[in-house]
Amino acid sequence: MTSIQEPSFRESVDMMFNRAVALMDLPPGLEEKIRVCNATYTVRFGVRLRGQIQTFTGYRSVHSEHMEPVKGGIRYALGVNQDEVEALAALMTFKCALVETPFGGSKGGLCIDPREYEEHELELITRRFAYELAKRDLINPSQNVPAPDMGTGEREMAWIADQYRRMNTTDINANACVTGKPAHAGGIQGRVEATGRGVQYALREFFRDPRDMAKAGLNGTLEGKRVIVQGLGNVGYHAAKFLQAEDGAIITGIIERDGALFNPNGLDVEAVKAWIVKNGGVAEFPDARHKTDGASVLEEECDILIPAALEGVINLSNADRIKAPLIIEAANGPVTAGADEVLRDRGTVIIPDMYANAGGVTVSYFEWVKNLSHIRFGRMQRRQEEARHQLIVDELERLDNYLGDAWSLRPDFKDRYLRGADELELVRSGLDDTMRAAYQSMREVWHSRDDVTDLRTAAYIVSIERVSRSYREKGL
Ligand code: GLU
Repeated sequence: MTSIQEPSFRESVDMMFNRAVALMDLPPGLEEKIRVCNATYTVRFGVRLRGQIQTFTGYRSVHSEHMEPVKGGIRYALGVNQDEVEALAALMTFKCALVETPFGGSKGGLCIDPREYEEHELELITRRFAYELAKRDLINPSQNVPAPDMGTGEREMAWIADQYRRMNTTDINANACVTGKPAHAGGIQGRVEATGRGVQYALREFFRDPRDMAKAGLNGTLEGKRVIVQGLGNVGYHAAKFLQAEDGAIITGIIERDGALFNPNGLDVEAVKAWIVKNGGVAEFPDARHKTDGASVLEEECDILIPAALEGVINLSNADRIKAPLIIEAANGPVTAGADEVLRDRGTVIIPDMYANAGGVTVSYFEWVKNLSHIRFGRMQRRQEEARHQLIVDELERLDNYLGDAWSLRPDFKDRYLRGADELELVRSGLDDTMRAAYQSMREVWHSRDDVTDLRTAAYIVSIERVSRSYREKGL
């Protein structure tokens, strides 16, 4: 797949970082300090399964501790390796800075194919992995707060939170040791959909500015735009579903593990998802052209391409055949540094990963704050009439003290709170505000500087500037 000249994922992230740094004026040496990963911990542990001991290898990498806790998901996949978690941890640093969540960057991974294990086996493995990380403070509400990523979800986060609680029975903030927990177990409404929602809000903001559309040769609104999505997992599914149901986009292609579906008149996202859940793949889904070579559908004509699966899928071997004028990176690192250059030269607009999929960590921040403040977010609908009661005003003030600039000061949050909005409404509006503000900070750099020709470089410039300001203000 990936050709021989292709750099590794981490090298690819470094190359993109270097491109931005070359246009900045950082104090000597600071650039290297920001670029490198601070530490990567490798753990190998045994679990007795099916009558024998199986050894697993996992990682937790901490990229930057300019703010703590550090934040980032835990991935379960067979291909997990040190290079990958380090690249992903670096992206977390820049992602958090871009959306102004007050976290450093981290990422974890376990080399495992979760589909090969029963639920109770996965629980044993997850609890043991969590134990190994927590005893080294690599899971901790004030130091390192994991979240879901590829191959993990609410279920794994609940096990991790419970494991940490058992190890720290007197920690009143134990629930804040991990985000992405189920709503009934310390989670927050809207976290599961958050990354896909964020992709939708990002595209809406893109389509608000005719200058941005012109760069991609597009116009109008999302209505009727032809979209191809790769990966109908949590992120791809929610993004495609909301774009189809709420913005009138036409999902013409869906690429999955076992092949792809294509229909120029549009695919019903819910129906395809239900088909995959029932049959384990897209094969034989009615009303669509089926292609066994799924990756070739990345090259089909469309208005918007959403890679929402693995890294490196758009690389030197296919970049020059990609026809989409607009790519939004719902996955982390789907476009390699080499492919990025090819596409940039061709004028393809890429909404970069560190921004495009930041909806997840944004809502994780809300969850973490909710856990630490021990205050629920929002009222029940039936309390609307009482909403101006002094108690709510006091509560909002307390919440305000916990929430940094990232959310509480954004337009209409307080208003909604006082009106008696429920948690889901508050989360969605806070996410929308955050995605808009972050986009605007990239857009400002993109349009105001002649030497910045792409959104990725603009995103790096904004986030590196913020990380470096934090180092300058606080010291190393
Ligand atoms: N795994 C997600 C990401 O890559 C979410 C991280 C988080 O919520 O901390 O951004």
